Amino acid sequence: MKALIIDGYVDEPACFGVPPYISPYIRYIAGAMRDRGLHAQHIFYLPIDKIRSNPKQHEKIIREADFIVIVAGMTVPGKYLRAIPINLQELQNISCIANGKVVLGGPIRLGFSLEGGKKASSISQLPNVHCCRADVEAFVYDMLKDGKLEDPINIGDRFRSVGEIARWGKKGAFIIRQHPDYPNIMCEIETYRGCGRKRHCSFCTEPFYGKPDHRPIEDIVLEVQELYKEGARYFRIGRQPDLLSYQAIDKGGELPVPNPSAIESLYRGIRSVAPQLKVLHMDNINPATISAFPNESEEILYIIKKYHTCGDVAAMGMESADPEVIKRNGLKVFPDEMFRAIELVNKVGAKRGITGMPELLPGINFVHGLMGETKETFRINYDFLLKVLNSGLLLRRINIRQVIAFQGTPIYGKDEATYKHKKEFLHYKEKVRKEIDLPMLRKVVPVGTILRNVLLEVNEGSITFGRQMGSYPLLIGIPANLEIGRYMDVTVIDHGFRSVTAIPYPLDVNNAQLRLLQRLPGIGKTMSNRIFRERPYKDMNELIDKTSIETDILKYIKI
Ligand code: SF4
Repeated sequence: MKALIIDGYVDEPACFGVPPYISPYIRYIAGAMRDRGLHAQHIFYLPIDKIRSNPKQHEKIIREADFIVIVAGMTVPGKYLRAIPINLQELQNISCIANGKVVLGGPIRLGFSLEGGKKASSISQLPNVHCCRADVEAFVYDMLKDGKLEDPINIGDRFRSVGEIARWGKKGAFIIRQHPDYPNIMCEIETYRGCGRKRHCSFCTEPFYGKPDHRPIEDIVLEVQELYKEGARYFRIGRQPDLLSYQAIDKGGELPVPNPSAIESLYRGIRSVAPQLKVLHMDNINPATISAFPNESEEILYIIKKYHTCGDVAAMGMESADPEVIKRNGLKVFPDEMFRAIELVNKVGAKRGITGMPELLPGINFVHGLMGETKETFRINYDFLLKVLNSGLLLRRINIRQVIAFQGTPIYGKDEATYKHKKEFLHYKEKVRKEIDLPMLRKVVPVGTILRNVLLEVNEGSITFGRQMGSYPLLIGIPANLEIGRYMDVTVIDHGFRSVTAIPYPLDVNNAQLRLLQRLPGIGKTMSNRIFRERPYKDMNELIDKTSIETDILKYIKI
């Protein structure tokens, strides 16, 4: 039997699977197949971008597969540098070509949407495709009984257990080798899912996963060990709504009490089985946990800083600074609490680390279109961000999106503010980009900052775009046509709203194009022309003698 896993990509509030990320779904499905006796050589993986790049070649693979599992679903869609999530037309095409059984799963079970500000549409109308209503990995496991492929209509929907993903996570690690980006892939790691709050935010789909089901530390460490053996070097502990609450203890309050020793054991365990890992980052934390348990939270953040790699981001959902919106939608924190959470993450992590980025910075998420939103909400949110900027605190990323109303969430059918304030939303977003993001980015990575290990990913005209591997990596444009897929150090020379321009570091003075020489920090046109004219130089002394170059510039160049 030949099985094919098609990755249509996922983007959820607490799980990411868009290249270079590979989501746990893919690995668990591959593991569930192996757990039922399928040989790894008969399990194939194809991301949707690869299918698009050569439809004819991949049509054959789709036709020949006995079993196709498609993973998809963007509950918080974004814009991606070099990946486009699967669309409904493509789903239909695959279902028409396929001769084998086709199962569709992942967050798409909640509805389909490729952009914010719209209602999620149902996906139940696809011909020849069975849509899983619970966990696709459990469905796949149940379909593959006794070496045969059951008809999906005979299989019930269910959630997988923590014990099952302990097996599947390990057994499915091999699949990462089939990712086109391998070995430059980020493995999204799950610690738990489901929300530990007693009251849930009006827009959030995480409560659909039920009560938090924390994985034992040992299971996670063993999964990382298997991934590491397969060549994985980049990890993000991203599949949970609040890392501070991993293995937290429920004492009956609104939030469970954080458990620093569990986080210490988790991170120490990961480091011991993956000693040469290159990235260990995190994703969400809940600012309400910081507010309720500041001491425990601070202890955990210091533990993370001790074991992680630099350039980490703690994304926090504020959603709105408007007290009326906060109350009406059951949001987590009021602005003063959020401000203190930002202060704490800055206290722990704002110092610059060896990659050139600060060690650990907060990210902040806003959602618009929530109940009670008025035109005034935009001013209140802007003022909050301005206060953060003017206070000298750093934010790595400000994410502003419009709500997608999913059936079953309290906002469903009550998201009229999204449509009412479209114009105001766009104006406000632009204002934040210009007046908050840009000056913030100048502080986070000033001109002259050297960023290490930038992976070159895309050529666009005469610009090459790259990013450091990690959680919410900064987009870097290099004004040169460079070879894709290799790593390079760069010097920051300019800022966009949400990206920077940089030149290779150190710049090879004898060989660099004039237009790159001209962009060395602090150089000026006359000096760069002079350096260009007098080339070549046998060493730095000759360069200094011939050009009288300022010593400040020498740190960015090589001979
Ligand atoms: S705190 Fe709110 S946003 Fe976070 S997981 Fe729970 S419901 Fe979702």
